[in-house]
Amino acid sequence: MTENSKKHVDSCRFCWMCRHICPIGNATGLERNTSRARALGLSLVNRGTFTLSEVIDNIYECACCGACTKECVTGWDPVMFTKEARLDGVLEGVLPEYINNLVDKCLETGNAYGAVEIDASLKATVVAHAQKADTLLFLGVDALYKVPEAAIKAIKVLEKAGVEFSVLEKEPASGQQLEYLISAANETKQQMLACAAAINAYDKVVVFDPQDAKVFKREYKEWGVELSAEVVTFTSFLAEILEKGSLEAKNSGKNVVYQDPFQLSRDLEETEEPRKVISAYAVCNEMLCCGKDTMWAGNLLMKEWMPDVILRVAADRINNAKGVGADTIVTASVSEYASLKAVEQSEVKILSLEELILGEQ
Ligand code: SF4
Ligand code: SF4
Repeated sequence: MTENSKKHVDSCRFCWMCRHICPIGNATGLERNTSRARALGLSLVNRGTFTLSEVIDNIYECACCGACTKECVTGWDPVMFTKEARLDGVLEGVLPEYINNLVDKCLETGNAYGAVEIDASLKATVVAHAQKADTLLFLGVDALYKVPEAAIKAIKVLEKAGVEFSVLEKEPASGQQLEYLISAANETKQQMLACAAAINAYDKVVVFDPQDAKVFKREYKEWGVELSAEVVTFTSFLAEILEKGSLEAKNSGKNVVYQDPFQLSRDLEETEEPRKVISAYAVCNEMLCCGKDTMWAGNLLMKEWMPDVILRVAADRINNAKGVGADTIVTASVSEYASLKAVEQSEVKILSLEELILGEQ
């Protein structure tokens, strides 16, 4: 572990100010699921009391959502040392078997789900955009393989706005899943380099999934993977075409709250654009923990090894919406949309931004 990470691991003052904002800790109620407990474990590894293999499961019980990093008064960064511990886990060959399996699938198929074919109706929609345009819509593995209806609706929205764009049937992996699983390992960088080579053939890349947008705009830059294409988030692109008048908007007056994906609001500092879009179609209210203080609502990747916890994380977020009397949550992350939809309940409607625009209210 680098000296910087060791310093962060050891500098926690145990003030507990970050304890209440961890979505996983809140869902499990377990002390081990707090950033300070994770640091304590790693501190004992650094001192030779434990081996990394003894705490490695705990290293994968973190969403790397950065809520604790934002909250820590000491400027302490748990995401940084958690990711470094994952990389150490690769180098020491002590990754849990369930993580190794997902990494293998990422390397074999480009996605952690091991999927090789996309849904037939999505395929038909994608094929209609096979011709090369200046703009590429990058859908991402969750939309392509897990929530094809979300990918179809994203395409429909751009069609409705008269945008000329391409979609790749064989989309390269952005590297976001490997970045989460094994951090800055060589395999992650190779996947990113291959993806950059493919998408640099376009002038502009509109990125549907905030998880991909985060790595394109942050890790690619940090790790020297050059992107000559202009990369824009789907939400900021929608705000832009709405302002230009390409998208027609009729406000239904419906009261909704917006679930900020942390990759947009915290990592990329994008909070206003999605609200501008929502406000054109509905009345955008706020729930507890919004904007940069957002609370993660779960994802499809962690569901692979912690399905019950992810369900509870999503249920907690629905309770936050109920707490302000909201009956609809609008999402901009396909993974959070799927997590929230998986909770069996009928009080709060879950809508994607695309569904709001397409009038599926
Ligand atoms: S990064 Fe998020 S999930 Fe991980 S410990 Fe911090 S608040 Fe919890
Ligand atoms: S807020 Fe910072 S110093 Fe306080 S317990 Fe959390 S990580 Fe430690």
